[in-house]
Amino acid sequence: MNSNGNHAIAAGCNCCGLSRRGLLWTGLAAALAAPLRAAAQTSLPPAAAMQALLDGNKRFVAQRLTSFDEDLTILRQNTVAKQEPFAAVLSCADSRVPVELLFDQSIGHLFVTRVAGNVATSEIIASLEYGAAVLGTAAIMVLGHSGCGAVKATIEGKAVPGQISGLYAPIRPAVAAAGSDLEAVVKANAKIQANLLATASPLLAGLIKDGKLQIAAGYYDLGSGAVSVLS
Ligand SMILES: [Zn+2]
Repeated sequence: MNSNGNHAIAAGCNCCGLSRRGLLWTGLAAALAAPLRAAAQTSLPPAAAMQALLDGNKRFVAQRLTSFDEDLTILRQNTVAKQEPFAAVLSCADSRVPVELLFDQSIGHLFVTRVAGNVATSEIIASLEYGAAVLGTAAIMVLGHSGCGAVKATIEGKAVPGQISGLYAPIRPAVAAAGSDLEAVVKANAKIQANLLATASPLLAGLIKDGKLQIAAGYYDLGSGAVSVLS
């Protein structure tokens, strides 16, 4: 690590033994970290960040959105050079799960990763690591939802065209754990993916241990619009 606290990119890091390959991302992230951190205006502790998500969802359910009152021109101008999202969400790609809307958030507030079945692939983990370690997101919610087509297809295990079946493998552990009931498997999958994030990524695990990050699994009900935290 150099005097600025950044890892050297050209060679392996002496302080933590990270490989050169791993340092390519880490170094890039560290290079971006300084101006973003310097620009930070707000910082919520993990529990408050998670609560802010849930409070936003309550406003969405009650149809009392406040994010639409914000001036989008000002929000855009204030976020051209920096972003300070307070939380991250891993959601399904499903069009009925509009993440910013259902948490009543606007430009620059949420760091959102989406993939069908909300599975924690290596690219998703890398993205959420960037959100947490570089941008400072204090909470990550893995959000499953009712009527999830990716989970339903995995339960059924039918032949599908193209590369769609590539989604089956990361969802199968939830099917093995919860059986054939769609809602039960969706909830099991959200919990499994959240646990994967918290344990498979040493970076995220370290932030949790240091009290800088909370990861939770949630369930979005398409009919009511309500998000419930799964335990
Ligand atoms: Zn889905």
